[in-house]
Amino acid sequence: MQNQIIDHKTEVIASLTDMQNKISSLKAAGKSIGFVPTLGALHPGHLSLIKRSKEENDITICSIYVNPTQFNKKEDLEKYPRTLKEDIYLLNEALCNIIFTPSTKDMYPESVASNLDISVGDLGKTMEGAHRPGHFEGVATIVARFFDIVHPNNAYFGEKDFQQLSIIKQVTKQLNYDITIISCPTIREGSGLAMSSRNSRLSNAAKKKAATIFECLSKVVLLQDTMSIKELKEFVKEHFNAMPEFELEYFEIAEPTHLEPVSDLAKTQSARAFIAVWIEGIRLIDNVKIK
Ligand code: AMP
Repeated sequence: MQNQIIDHKTEVIASLTDMQNKISSLKAAGKSIGFVPTLGALHPGHLSLIKRSKEENDITICSIYVNPTQFNKKEDLEKYPRTLKEDIYLLNEALCNIIFTPSTKDMYPESVASNLDISVGDLGKTMEGAHRPGHFEGVATIVARFFDIVHPNNAYFGEKDFQQLSIIKQVTKQLNYDITIISCPTIREGSGLAMSSRNSRLSNAAKKKAATIFECLSKVVLLQDTMSIKELKEFVKEHFNAMPEFELEYFEIAEPTHLEPVSDLAKTQSARAFIAVWIEGIRLIDNVKIK
């Protein structure tokens, strides 16, 4: 086992042709492939997906690509943290087999531009979809493009981005991919703050304060039996109104499959609470299971 760690060297592939050749040889050798798409700036949340993929597949491939079409604000795209050297180090430590770092020219050749028409349907109309127009179309397009190149058996996504996960499941079905989508639990800081690449753009003080997002969601879980949805929404609004450094963008309670808003918790079997808040100009999202 120790030898394996010492000998391990994650292969970094940037060229599309090299990646396609690699996949052909892996498939010819009968290897199962687990795929973890990321935007980079990796943290333990991403690495938990790599770990799970390694447990379930012969070969784990992680892509690092800051996909321009899923950013609805140019500034957010430009300021997105890019830490490729550190990412390669972390993936090597995690014994990931292959890192794919494609170029935009290879990901968006003219011949596949029409893929941007992928419909994300009603699932993409609420919450993140409503506040980030075009975001999920961009996500669905790039994930489909990656699936066409990597041909994974399993692909791993975090519940941190629960709506994205639901949309990927739907698109995978819709486009008939023979790929199993595996959902992985949200990894949190000790404070409860959901890990996110965006957290690195927060000051230490804001990062500390941002723990209140999960605290608030946890209170919602506890209060669900004593409050109506309307009262829970009012509770969350007041929670953030009391802290001027925060701006609450949305708080929703929805059922987890179709993400339709829940109007009465007593009448639904399962529900999740979803939130987006701004602090120091950074947008943070989180969600928890309510029942
Ligand atoms: P991103 O680089 O933000 O696109 O994230 C890549 C993948 O990692 C997505 O499937 C995310 O849902 C997942 N992810 C990001 N943060 C976390 C976290 N804190 N816990 C679990 N998964 C995460």
